[in-house]
Amino acid sequence: MQPEEEPLANAFVRQSIAAAKNRIRAQKAAQEKDPAQSMFLALAMGQEAQAKKALLLLRGRIGTTVENLAEALQESREMAMETLPWTVLAQAEGDRAAGALLVQMARAQASHLAAYEERTRGEAEYHVCPICGYIHAGATPGRCPVCNALPEKFIEARA
Ligand SMILES: [Zn+2]
Repeated sequence: MQPEEEPLANAFVRQSIAAAKNRIRAQKAAQEKDPAQSMFLALAMGQEAQAKKALLLLRGRIGTTVENLAEALQESREMAMETLPWTVLAQAEGDRAAGALLVQMARAQASHLAAYEERTRGEAEYHVCPICGYIHAGATPGRCPVCNALPEKFIEARA
């Protein structure tokens, strides 16, 4: 990512996370029949609008495919490296659910890095497990090696 894109990317990430949380808070408030639900929903909608604007501006600054491949690979590497300390932290805090999710995430992220290598060998077909995010490079996925999802659950990545 170019340095001038960082504020936009950060705005997009922060607004998207806040919006997702506020949508969940709105659902919780609705279950509890609390009128705060409409405020949470309004916050989420406002944050989504702002995230969308940041994303549109980022899209206008997108590089060449060669640049994008290098950048996407770098992002995947960084995320893979960040996941391990998060996993250790979650396990240290005794948060089993987060620990298990992060372990699964790390395994799926390894498949993301493998997808780049497969592409350099000429692979052009990818299937994604929608449950855990594992990427199968090639035509016919079997059961998901990360979450054990059935082959028919996989979705082909096609523009
Ligand atoms: Zn899976």
